[in-house]
Amino acid sequence: MKRIAIIGGGISGLAAAFALEERRRGGEPLEYAVYESGPRFGGVLATEQVDGCLIEAGPDSFLTEKPWAAELCRRLGIEDQLIGSNDGDRKTYILVKGKLTPMPDGLMFMVPTRLAPALLSTLFSGATKFRMVREWRFAPRQSRSDESVAALVERHYGAEMVERLADPLLSGVYGGEAAQLSVRAVLPRFVEMESKYGSLGRGMLAVRKNMKPAQSAPPIFTSLKGGMQQLADALAAGLSPGTLRPNTRVEAVQKQDRGWIVSAGYASDHFDNVIIATSATAAVPLFEITCAGLASELKAIPYSSSMTVALGFDKDVRAALPAGFGFLVPRSEGKRMLAATFVHNKFPHRVPEDRALIRCFLGGSRDEQILQLPDDKILGIVREELRRILGLNAEPLFTRIYRWRGAMAQYVVGHLERLQRIESLLKQWPGLALAGNAYRGIGVPDCVRSGEAAVQQVLAGA
Ligand SMILES: Cc1cc2nc3c(=O)[nH]c(=O)nc-3n(C[C@H](O)[C@H](O)[C@H](O)COP(=O)(O)OP(=O)(O)OC[C@H]3O[C@@H](n4cnc5c(N)ncnc54)[C@H](O)[C@@H]3O)c2cc1C
Repeated sequence: MKRIAIIGGGISGLAAAFALEERRRGGEPLEYAVYESGPRFGGVLATEQVDGCLIEAGPDSFLTEKPWAAELCRRLGIEDQLIGSNDGDRKTYILVKGKLTPMPDGLMFMVPTRLAPALLSTLFSGATKFRMVREWRFAPRQSRSDESVAALVERHYGAEMVERLADPLLSGVYGGEAAQLSVRAVLPRFVEMESKYGSLGRGMLAVRKNMKPAQSAPPIFTSLKGGMQQLADALAAGLSPGTLRPNTRVEAVQKQDRGWIVSAGYASDHFDNVIIATSATAAVPLFEITCAGLASELKAIPYSSSMTVALGFDKDVRAALPAGFGFLVPRSEGKRMLAATFVHNKFPHRVPEDRALIRCFLGGSRDEQILQLPDDKILGIVREELRRILGLNAEPLFTRIYRWRGAMAQYVVGHLERLQRIESLLKQWPGLALAGNAYRGIGVPDCVRSGEAAVQQVLAGA
């Protein structure tokens, strides 16, 4: 009987455990245990019901175009619980000089694929519009080395595009800065388009031609009726009884002649394989004795912290708020808020008709210190900024604050080279695999895929 330890009970670890469970049900002789230092499973997937509203403390959905999370839901038998975002109302605003300015139609991520709406938009200055037109004629360009997202975007559209779009979009996804994040790791499609087409605009158009027409396209975001925690709960419920070990922090993982010893508190257990599905930072102390080289590569992967603040309001506020999914705040606006979602528009069934729910994002690599502030200070900042941005003076019916320390891995320039070094170090340790958001994708579907890939890797390795 093969024994496998999974360390970390977030979505990456749970997806790995369920992949093992499927193999066990298929007749493979194996057993597994999931170690989780906290009292609950799911990691940053956490959902709360307040006053009839469904509040996501962490992720609220995942990108539909990345199939791995939805496929997992199908295998779990909860496919009927999948829901899409309300894309008919998918307007997003950027705060420019204190005013909410809609993103023009035809922008794909930050790339204009239709020049007319971009040229008519008040989001960009004349100089940026001139660059957009000129960019359309850029010749293909091969670059051998990695660079930041900001460097590539600036080359095509200038600094204003970085400041107004690239930076706020990336701080929403990664809690990081366009000037630090690796374009090859974060936006590999941009690198491919630049080398094939030269112009990102023409490259995006070519990609779009192969996509389904808008009316038959699936919603951009997928989630679950009961919130993202429903996925974690279904995974935990689908595992063999007795496999989950909550409140059990692993302190060391040591190689033996055959297999591994996993030590947690006073207990040590022997396993044939180990999957580490914690953050890279949390994995460092586990390896410091066994593999210092691996530990030092993992230590070099930076993380940022983030915070979500949910505020519920009554129907009068709902009627007064703008249409659309929400807004992004460029750094130059001098606010602490990075973005806000109008949940009642993005996922209407999560909020009763007589309520409004606004979810604000703060923190990120530039403002880690905000997580240290007490709740009343944080609420004071958020309410004052909502007052200035939306003219929102009403008293909230309820508020919730969720702090996620060191939760967002930052794929800084050189990240892919670091992964190569990590992968070659791991070859010395067949039977050991890493999963999680530190490596090849930060989104929930990427984490699911990383957990499933880790299972294949350890079972193939030893
Ligand atoms: C606020 C926020 C919003 C997000 N929004 C989205 C979104 O909308 N869509 C999307 O796709 N992605 C989103 N993400 C990203 C995505 O949710 C995460 O990247 C992903 O859920 C990480 O899962 P994980 O299992 O790798 O890590 P985690 O969820 O961090 O789980 C790791 C687990 O390991 C445990 N652990 C750590 N050390 C030990 C130890 N020594 N022993 C035992 N257990 C240990 C921890 O307690 C934790 O439970 C968001 C993230 C955050 C923080």
